[in-house]
Amino acid sequence: DTTPVQHFIRTIIDGDLASGKHVSVATRFPPEPNGYLHVGHAKSICLNFGLAQNYQGTCNLRFDDTNPEKESNEYADSIMEDVHWLGFRWNGEVRWASDYFPQLYGYAEELIQTGKAFVCDLTPDQMREYRGTLTEAGRNSPYRDRSVEENLDLFRRMKAGEFPDGSKTLRAKIDMAAPNINMRDPVIYRIKRAHHIRTGDQWCIYPMYDYTHCISDALEGITHSLCTLEFEDHRPLYDWVLDNITIGCHPQQIEFSRLELHNTITSKRKLLQLVSQGHVAGWDDPRMPTIHGMRRRGYTPEGIREFARRIGISKSVNIVEMAVLEAAIREDLEAKVPRVMAVVDPVKVVLTNYQEGVTAGRAAGFHPHHPEFGEREVPIGREIWVERDDFSDDPPAGWQRLTVGGEVRLRYSYVIKCEEAVKDAAGRLVELRCSIDHETLGKNPVGRKVKGVIHWLSAEHALAAEFRLYDRLFTDSEPDGHRDHDFLEFLNPGSLKVVQGWVEAAVKEAVPESRYQFERIGYFCADRLDHQPGGRLVFNRTVSLKDTWAK
Ligand code: ATP
Ligand code: MG
Ligand code: MG
Repeated sequence: DTTPVQHFIRTIIDGDLASGKHVSVATRFPPEPNGYLHVGHAKSICLNFGLAQNYQGTCNLRFDDTNPEKESNEYADSIMEDVHWLGFRWNGEVRWASDYFPQLYGYAEELIQTGKAFVCDLTPDQMREYRGTLTEAGRNSPYRDRSVEENLDLFRRMKAGEFPDGSKTLRAKIDMAAPNINMRDPVIYRIKRAHHIRTGDQWCIYPMYDYTHCISDALEGITHSLCTLEFEDHRPLYDWVLDNITIGCHPQQIEFSRLELHNTITSKRKLLQLVSQGHVAGWDDPRMPTIHGMRRRGYTPEGIREFARRIGISKSVNIVEMAVLEAAIREDLEAKVPRVMAVVDPVKVVLTNYQEGVTAGRAAGFHPHHPEFGEREVPIGREIWVERDDFSDDPPAGWQRLTVGGEVRLRYSYVIKCEEAVKDAAGRLVELRCSIDHETLGKNPVGRKVKGVIHWLSAEHALAAEFRLYDRLFTDSEPDGHRDHDFLEFLNPGSLKVVQGWVEAAVKEAVPESRYQFERIGYFCADRLDHQPGGRLVFNRTVSLKDTWAK
């Protein structure tokens, strides 16, 4: 469903277009290239790019690259790839806040000239002390009354590299008694000798986020600057900066609530910790809530976009069950991907009355409701694989799968009857011996009902495959939400199970990222990196067929 869901931001935009305040909509998505994007960012991407689409406006991709030590080209590249993969196109070239360093510097000189910024020599500790608290006003810095000339001279010398890192800052001169601490003469420039991925060693002073963001928005002619609620307290500063410099544009900052997903985390810093401490295999580990991870797991861009549509946009808490995301993915895959058979925990079945030239395979469609997907032959042989847990020695009431003396239908094939279970000395099932009812190919058995249907594979024809079965990464629904526990304590030790099994020959040439439903088991995706068509077959379980979260 691509119908936009109405929300308060759309209502604001509708009003601005109706009143003539704006004639078109310009948004931006402003990630910092200091990590891979996660599912929360996907919400923001769908919002910003989605609005541009719905209103025939534009959305810029702008890197907020003002913390050189934490940023890298690898991160920037991954972000561009993710936005594209999600199905969005940014307006023109990618923007970088660092492209605006000269203008940002110029506006800082303007603030100094008009007496609205000063160079301060307080140390970080002193600054904290002067800042005051929520209940107590701050105190003016002793450097606050420096003359315009002195400030200009010092700021230029900061830029020229005359002072050590951290020894001076440029601060906006606002109000040390403001109830909002962000307005208590906030730092807008700091000295930091750090190599920047775009500007190299050209600058040794870097602008702060709050100062950079509003000016970047204005320079790009953004109409609605959408951000998450933690920036609500920063809005007065956003507006103050734009009101106090000569710039012909004043975007409206609007806040919405961040997405949080149960049983995972949506903090780049903590995701980085998972990667750097080796708790997962990388940013693209399919257990990660990153866009790269979701992609590798087999989630579809359409499914993720539908998820974003369903969770909506508001200012109220947005903590969502994983089941909501999985349902959107599952529903998207349902009608889209071919269905074949795979056995992930195999046990051998010998078909004792198999008859060469008589017992026959059968053609089967790849999708029950989509004949256009085509069909393939489902061959049979004397030996077949079935799922170990489709047999029970001691079945519960109503069991419709294999048990000694019981009958079951092999999907697309015959009804078989289990005659004997062969075990090893330890009592573990080694093989089953079953007989075929040769009158049941494409026909119901005569005189009785066989309700159970199981998936299976001809041993002679099946291809060996590796299956990676994923479960939730954290056992706790809010791993991040405990004051006296570290989120790592809730890592699920069983979040990945790698098993060797078998799959239909029909998938032999599947290219990486091909998606399938393995009947009765779940949706799977050929691993982007490790799967080789015609060679090593590796499938990641994207999502089970039913909601397994409601336990
Ligand atoms: P994190 O807190 O995970 O480090 P961030 O907000 O610092 O994320 P940015 O790269 O600055 O990361 O985010 C880019 C944009 O994505 C911002 O506009 C931010 O508000 C938005 N965003 C980040 N996390 C979420 C989330 N969980 N839900 C919705 N939007 C988000
Ligand atoms: Mg940020
Ligand atoms: Mg953050």
